[in-house]
Amino acid sequence: MGEDHLVTTDAQPTIAHWLDNKSFPGTSTRTAPVTNPATGQVTGQLALASVEDVRAVVEAAAAAFPAWRDTSLTKRTQVLFRFRELLNARKEELAAIITAEHGKVLSDALGEVSRGQEVVEFACGIPHLLKGSFTENASTRVDVHNVLQPLGVVGIISPFNFPAMVPMWFYPIAIAAGNTVVVKPSEKDPSAVLWTAQLWAEAGLPDGVFNVVQGDKVAVDALLTDPDVASISFVGSTPIARYVYETGTAHGKRVQALGGAKNHAIVLPDADLDLAADSLVNAGFGSAGERCMAISVAVAVGDIADTLVDKVAERTRTIRTGDGTRGCDMGPLVTRAHRDKVASYIDQAEADGATVVVDGRQVQADGGADGFWLGPTLLDAVPTDSSAYTDEIFGPVLSVVRVDSYAEAVELIHANPYGNGTAIFTNDGGAARRFANEIEVGMVGINVPIPVPMAYFSFGGWKASLFGDTHAHGMEGVHFFTRTKAITTRWLDPSHGGLNLGFPQNN
Ligand code: NAD
Repeated sequence: MGEDHLVTTDAQPTIAHWLDNKSFPGTSTRTAPVTNPATGQVTGQLALASVEDVRAVVEAAAAAFPAWRDTSLTKRTQVLFRFRELLNARKEELAAIITAEHGKVLSDALGEVSRGQEVVEFACGIPHLLKGSFTENASTRVDVHNVLQPLGVVGIISPFNFPAMVPMWFYPIAIAAGNTVVVKPSEKDPSAVLWTAQLWAEAGLPDGVFNVVQGDKVAVDALLTDPDVASISFVGSTPIARYVYETGTAHGKRVQALGGAKNHAIVLPDADLDLAADSLVNAGFGSAGERCMAISVAVAVGDIADTLVDKVAERTRTIRTGDGTRGCDMGPLVTRAHRDKVASYIDQAEADGATVVVDGRQVQADGGADGFWLGPTLLDAVPTDSSAYTDEIFGPVLSVVRVDSYAEAVELIHANPYGNGTAIFTNDGGAARRFANEIEVGMVGINVPIPVPMAYFSFGGWKASLFGDTHAHGMEGVHFFTRTKAITTRWLDPSHGGLNLGFPQNN
């Protein structure tokens, strides 16, 4: 992607796979460059797995499963607690890796690690979460109980935008529940997951429980069709999420596939406009808009639109774009090709009649001359048939759409194919309650622009933002990574007996 423009250096380490608690070079000769988006420099060559490489990793995970499944909950949680302590002590290292390959600013990378760590902490409570239920005397002298058992080898396929946190939505719970794991990170920023693999080894996780396979579609397809892979947790764009869901389920796997988004924030006339403007800027341009929960559309209701646009513009102009290690507010985009694509949406919106209030195309960034820069961009009066409105841009572009009523704003959201996140800004509790009740979106914020649920709740959108019916982490995560078995038991009274070929009935 954009390789013509990449600056290469002499020292380019190979970024490999991870199997049995050590680096695994694999057999494939295919590679892909990994870049630092703030400099444009190639910093590593990623090994792209062959089908045979994936098989080797899955075989190791399958071999490790029986012993890990039978490891006591006490011992499993001891490893999780150690992993949590190591992660907490060394999170700056992980944040630096994220910034070097993704580009987001260091403080944001640290925030990503913290949100992932919450899931590790939730998973430390697995003995409580795995408790089944028991009914005594369901029928005379018959007891019923159920147990939650692990699935086996579980696959996790993650996107570029949260290289540490998104895999962490899944693997702490999967491992705690007794599964063994194969992670396929994004080929754009593969090193964060490798770093955590090393940390698991240091925490004492047995060989083969946490494995990493690097790669592209070849690796994804191999995981989706491998008979030893029991489930797939995918996060990425909607077309690939749909493909992963359809292919994985066709091969008999349990699949949860989280897709793309186009998140709207409604600003009602009675809202605190300073709070709304702060929130829109933070949620629109944080991580350069490369968040599935970014607000990309602000829906201004009624006559507040001019004031709101002025307040957002004023704040947008203060944002410092640059290298994430230099204390800037916003970093570069992940690749040059993505930067160019996002900029082309601004060109198109302008051609379609939108007003470019703040233009990021000419940004003077505090970073390398070859960095993938695009400044924060504010578009006003964006026509709803412009591709800048209809497509997920996934960049620092905030579009304002003006409507006359709350009902029109809700109609816009309901007409959108995605249903990941949304927010409303208002001081009217009744309006907020009605919105939360009727809006067809999976995660809703009331005066909160990015309503990412805590780890003990579950994360996931509706409509084209999620294929499958299970959201990430929280109890839905525990449910996804376990199978329920119901066991009916009768210990006969010594005097009891006799044949009865009828269907079992309760008595
Ligand atoms: P992507 O769909 O391009 O890639 C995601 C994963 O799929 C990567 O591991 C990639 O290697 C693999 N992949 C890519 N093309 C493939 C193909 N043709 N066949 C098989 N596998 C393929 O997504 P991305 O650009 O890395 O991430 C951004 C997208 O992820 C955005 O759409 C964003 O909204 C979405 N996302 C969603 C959530 C959510 O929770 N719903 C969270 C984060 C990101």
